[in-house]
This record gives sequence, structure tokens and C-alpha cells, in this order.
Amino acid sequence: MSIASQLERVRATLPEGVKLVAVSKTHPTEVIEEAYRAGQRCFGESRPQEMKQKQEALPKDIAWHMIGHLQTNKIKYIAPFVALIESVDSERLCEALQREAVKCHRVLDLLFEVHVAREETKSGWVAAELIAFVEAGAMDRYPNLRVRGVMGIASNTEDEAVVKGDFEALRAVFEVLKPHFGEAFDTLSMGMSDDYPLAIACGSTSVRVGSLIFGERDYSK
Ligand SMILES: *Cc1c(COP(=O)(O)O)cnc(C)c1O
Repeated sequence: MSIASQLERVRATLPEGVKLVAVSKTHPTEVIEEAYRAGQRCFGESRPQEMKQKQEALPKDIAWHMIGHLQTNKIKYIAPFVALIESVDSERLCEALQREAVKCHRVLDLLFEVHVAREETKSGWVAAELIAFVEAGAMDRYPNLRVRGVMGIASNTEDEAVVKGDFEALRAVFEVLKPHFGEAFDTLSMGMSDDYPLAIACGSTSVRVGSLIFGERDYSK
């Protein structure tokens, strides 16, 4: 099936108000162009240099979301244009983002990535530590950073009850943090190809869908 029809299939399942981030990591620019021609304007990438190369090659009205772990020394590749950094997982990264944001005279929009999955390997804040960090007023130190919400990845399991529990835990963090931020705090990013309908049922406002649109990824290239 074509990318346009895959996209259409996914879109047809999204309630109004739920945003679709098409996760294009590892896929070449021609493939992204095909989705662009089908009307998609928001894409997710996990590697800074790869995102930068694609941004340079593709139309400038694309909103690029960083969804992978971001090393501080790589912020510079994306800071001038990135629309949303969904994977902010530490205080150290906030500090480095603030510095880069000042350098390029921007306010950077971000989500806090929260660790809700069972797997130890996934990154993100421990929920209680993030809440303590925000409640202590730590974000006041970063005037060039604007917190838009939270992002998380559910456990990689067939057990729906576990996945649902992860999404509910993430939503709870979203609700606790919300009063600390302004109206711009509006994004609960959860749900991927395998679990996005459940994420939406649990309150997701933004889903990150890759393989269901673009097919399987080949990491060897
Ligand atoms: C790769 C990735 C996705 C997309 O995964 P699919 O299963 O292909 O939909 C979503 N979110 C994050 C953080 C990712 O790294």
C-alpha cells in the first residue's frame, strides 16, 4: 500500500484534536516527501544530524519533532529550527538547551520524557523526581524554554493492562504538572504504531506513529 493510503488509514482512526507525528527516522527524504504531498506536515526524528540533513533538503513548513535521546553536544544541529523536543530527560539537558536557545535567539518548546515503562533501558525522568524538580521552580531558570507537556513510551508487552497502566501513570504526571505551567501546556504525547488507540483512550493528544505509515525500519543503512 502507498504511504498516502497508509497515512489516510491512520488519520481516519484519530479523533479530532489528536495530533499525528509521522515518525520518519531511518527513512529517506523521498519517502518523507511522499507523506508531505499527502498533506503531512509534522515528522519525528531521533537523531540530530539526520534531522538536520532532512530539514535542509525538505520544505520549510515541516514541523520537526525530536523524539530520541538528545546528547547536549548535538543540540546545536537542531536548535535553530526544531519545533518540539519531546525527549527532555534531565536537568543537565535543560541547562544546555537554555544556552543553545539563547545563542539562536529562540524559545524552544519541549516535553519532559517520563519513564513509565517496566524496561530499565528506556530513558526519561522518574515521575516523582520530575514533579519535585518542577515544584521547586527549577524551570524559572530557563526563560528560553517553554514546557508544552509530557511524553512517554509504554512497556513493550502484549499485556494491555500493563500498557494501559503506563499510559494512566503518564497522564497522572501530566495532570499534576499542568497547574505549574500556562495554557501552552497542552501536549500529552503517548502512543506508537502498536498501542496508539489505547493511548488515545487514555487521553493522548499526540501520537507518534512510524512503522504503520512507513513500514519496517532498516537500521543497518
Ligand atoms: C521510533 C519511535 C516511535 C515510532 O515507533 P513505531 O512503532 O514505528 O510507530 C515513536 N516514539 C518514539 C520515541 C520512537 O523512538
